[in-house]
Amino acid sequence: MIGFDVAIIGGGLSGSSTALNLSKKGYSVLIIEKEKSKDYKPCAGGMASSMKKFLPLNIVDCIESKIKNVEFRWKAADNVTADLTGESPFWIVKREKLDQLLLDESLRNGTQIMRPLLIEKIIKKNDQWEITCNNKIKYITEFLVIADGSQSKWASYFNLGPRKPKFANTFSLRLKGLGEIPRDSVRFEFGFIKYGFAWAFPLRESLNIGLGTFINNGLLENQAINKQVIRSFGFDDFPYKTISKKLRIWNGFHSINGDKVLAVGDAASLCDPFFS
Ligand SMILES: Cc1cc2nc3c(=O)[nH]c(=O)nc-3n(C[C@H](O)[C@H](O)[C@H](O)COP(=O)(O)OP(=O)(O)OC[C@H]3O[C@@H](n4cnc5c(N)ncnc54)[C@H](O)[C@@H]3O)c2cc1C
Repeated sequence: MIGFDVAIIGGGLSGSSTALNLSKKGYSVLIIEKEKSKDYKPCAGGMASSMKKFLPLNIVDCIESKIKNVEFRWKAADNVTADLTGESPFWIVKREKLDQLLLDESLRNGTQIMRPLLIEKIIKKNDQWEITCNNKIKYITEFLVIADGSQSKWASYFNLGPRKPKFANTFSLRLKGLGEIPRDSVRFEFGFIKYGFAWAFPLRESLNIGLGTFINNGLLENQAINKQVIRSFGFDDFPYKTISKKLRIWNGFHSINGDKVLAVGDAASLCDPFFS
């Protein structure tokens, strides 16, 4: 048996930043992550620069673009461009890089990570959590943080977050080059995708493209429309290799903590697709 102050289920953005904040304060932290590290994360990477003041470290190396304006279009026409005021209020980060940076920094501060590792059972014993994993080791922890993302299985197990989570359906891909999107601009494209929209967010040398619907999840299955949307961002010929992901989204106020257990990030349905 190995003991920790806090065990975190999931080593994504929320898990790693929680680990970093806690380990910096001197708590012993264990992250249990079910997967090996990934070299692509289906995330557009948009982030309000005002978040800077809440971050536990400097993320300047992860910022790929600083956005000066946002373009809205309806079926590739009718452009409306909003200039963002202030000093670049909107950044685009490369998620794989940001996640790795947060994780590395938390490891430097003493966090331990076990990956890939699957949890088999969690029970409370003597007012502490006992986590049994598929390596047959038991981890004992005082507090538990649920950070297992949109497909969270543990949030509902502990009755945290909405009883009936709400999901958006997303398709995303990253293409080399920026198409016709300027590096200091993002574009939202409406009209092609019923009950949803598409977006193009520029990285340094590539473009994060996404399509999302909120009501009828089947609506993203039309490849011809999807390709038309991608073409509208300025690509004639491209590898159509999309990743689909259900994104658990904000669904009203619900309790996200119980006795010595807290849900964070997507597991807690904290994601607002427009305001992130
Ligand atoms: C297409 C798309 C575009 C997006 N664009 C933006 C954007 O521009 N800006 C923005 O702020 N947000 C955006 N988001 C949302 C953002 O990606 C998520 O809100 C964010 O990734 C949530 O982080 P998380 O750590 O909660 O979950 P995740 O990043 O999903 O991490 C969860 C981790 O838990 C692990 N895990 C899962 N189950 C278990 C288990 N049983 N045991 C152990 N580990 C487990 C997973 O392997 C993963 O590493 C976008 C999402 C999508 C899908």
